Amino acid sequence: MSNTSRHHSRVSPIGGGFTILAALGLLAAGCGSDDGTRSSVDASTEPDDHDEAHHHDEPTEPDATAGTVDLSLFADGALVGEPTIDECTLSDGSTSECYTITVVGTPVNHDIGPFCPTSVTDGEDAGGLWLDGEDSYVMDGEFFTELGDIYGDEVWGNLVNDDGSINVIDNAEDFENAARAGITEEYYYNCVEGRVEWLEGGEQPTATIQVPVNPAPTNAVAVEFPTGAHSTLGVTFSGSLLAGSADMSAILAAYTIAAFDDCGGHINPGGYHIHGTTGCSDVGEAPEGETAPFALAIDGHTVHAPAEGLELDECNGHTTDEFGYHYHANTIEQNATLTCVTGLTAEGAAGGNRGGERPPRPDDG
Ligand SMILES: [Zn+2]
Ligand SMILES: [Zn+2]
Repeated sequence: MSNTSRHHSRVSPIGGGFTILAALGLLAAGCGSDDGTRSSVDASTEPDDHDEAHHHDEPTEPDATAGTVDLSLFADGALVGEPTIDECTLSDGSTSECYTITVVGTPVNHDIGPFCPTSVTDGEDAGGLWLDGEDSYVMDGEFFTELGDIYGDEVWGNLVNDDGSINVIDNAEDFENAARAGITEEYYYNCVEGRVEWLEGGEQPTATIQVPVNPAPTNAVAVEFPTGAHSTLGVTFSGSLLAGSADMSAILAAYTIAAFDDCGGHINPGGYHIHGTTGCSDVGEAPEGETAPFALAIDGHTVHAPAEGLELDECNGHTTDEFGYHYHANTIEQNATLTCVTGLTAEGAAGGNRGGERPPRPDDG
């Protein structure tokens, strides 16, 4: 994909306003925060019937590799209720304690979309991003006229009609049929986007993950995420599910664009989820050489924005004085926020638990 054009540009991380905590609070007020209680817990608000969980509350010797789950990083309104501490079985078979964390599913600090432009004359504001695992593209209308060049097959021109309009999925039934792997030919040549009102019950489902209360990296890779299988990597601090790689081979084989919004998210029949980070969920300030955290991985460690020049382990993790052990996301065009985690995970935590009433479904990617 080296045949660059002006629409073939890498996306720069979006810093700025999305990262300001004060703004999160303001925006969260209109985003379904039901009772105004704190959206985070600390030791003092843990349930009383879990006294044994308070050991981590006591002063201990600092351990450079011991992690802590910092629930205070979640934006106001991002959590559904307060996380609970429950017994869990970890991936090494041991019994431990895990936080059960449910997020609202849609980001509380930014809007979803737009995804697909509808005309070749549309500007950048009408569309989101396209990420194919090798590069990222700003999706204005003209991008759709370049797909044949980008993918070396002029049949991609079928996405654009003679009048300049772009084929965009525009109803719930087509969405159900087009936004998944193995679609039939009648749904080929579409820019695929979803709407929350097309989801079951007309609502975004919540997403629940379990993470160890006391996360710790092991000396080996503990969980490797399959590519194209829509695994659950964690949740963002703004309240969305963080998904693994989108199934690019299936998407491109059907001549579809499973459009992402500017925050790297899109909607499939399972709901909104994000496949990468462009800064929309970043929290707080990062010291020199570091980047801001934006998500909690399923092993309980924090995921920070991509960073250059750091020495990272096989799973993009490293340990610093300020943050302890944590990961750095791959850049968004790689279609793999993380490829693995080194810490133990709760049984089933990576199994695509989407929360809510809806069982996991095949993904569009
Ligand atoms: Zn770091
Ligand atoms: Zn997806």
